[in-house]
Amino acid sequence: MSTTTLATPTVESLAREHPEFGGWLDLLSVVADEAATSAWADAIPASATGVPLLAGATLTIDPVVASAWLRRLLDVGARSAPVLASAAEKLDGLVMLEAAIALDTTRIDALADAARVPAEPLRAVLPLVAWPWLQCCGARLGNRVPADHAHAWCPICGAWATLAEARGLESARRLRCGRCGGDWRAAWLRCPFCGTDEHARLRGLVGETTGEARRADGCAACGAWVKTITTLGASPIGEVRLLDLATVDLDVAALARGWKRPGGVGAALDVHVVARERRRWWQR
Ligand SMILES: [Zn+2]
Ligand SMILES: [Zn+2]
Repeated sequence: MSTTTLATPTVESLAREHPEFGGWLDLLSVVADEAATSAWADAIPASATGVPLLAGATLTIDPVVASAWLRRLLDVGARSAPVLASAAEKLDGLVMLEAAIALDTTRIDALADAARVPAEPLRAVLPLVAWPWLQCCGARLGNRVPADHAHAWCPICGAWATLAEARGLESARRLRCGRCGGDWRAAWLRCPFCGTDEHARLRGLVGETTGEARRADGCAACGAWVKTITTLGASPIGEVRLLDLATVDLDVAALARGWKRPGGVGAALDVHVVARERRRWWQR
């Protein structure tokens, strides 16, 4: 395995080299700001013992907080997709949060339809509404990930791995989740999606300018692929998201070859989002 690493992309370098990423970088920036507010960290479920860890959990949040965050996110999205302006007023913050956590596209489309909001831009932006909470949960639950978890879906939030790291001098293969930051071990020469270890069925695709340091590892048995990035250490969640964006050319090349990644989440989550009672003035 190659141990060559490339400079980690930053918001500034990506904005400079790829003006077309501007809208997405703005969304990532507002997600990072929101994740730093205490409301989401305060809403980490006390017990998270499902498989994945958040399966069956309840997110209890002030509806005013959820609606304000949805409005802020969609306002930033509206800079690139003006039809999203004022969409938040027609959508229920708690319901949208629940659909985003589940990555339930059918439900997102139905909710968009019912509110007469165009489904396509909403489908692109809405999943991010779940990220601040998932990111707080990921930071808290990371040390509870079972060491023997051997799937392509995140052991914390159930999403399909965003990318893999070939990490450190020993080039350990670690799968990473761009929603919650999940970080788990995977075997080399085994497809994490279908489990095949028939080497003849595994295939690779290297970046035009980045070579082995940034590549896509695909599987002819199930058709799926995961991007692999050579890194020195564990990338913080913000960097995982930037690396995913910086390597979008590999996704385009993989799709052009007819490779496919499964949609939605890899393991059912069934997280319920419920309203937290607002404190009355006499309870302060
Ligand atoms: Zn995750
Ligand atoms: Zn496979």
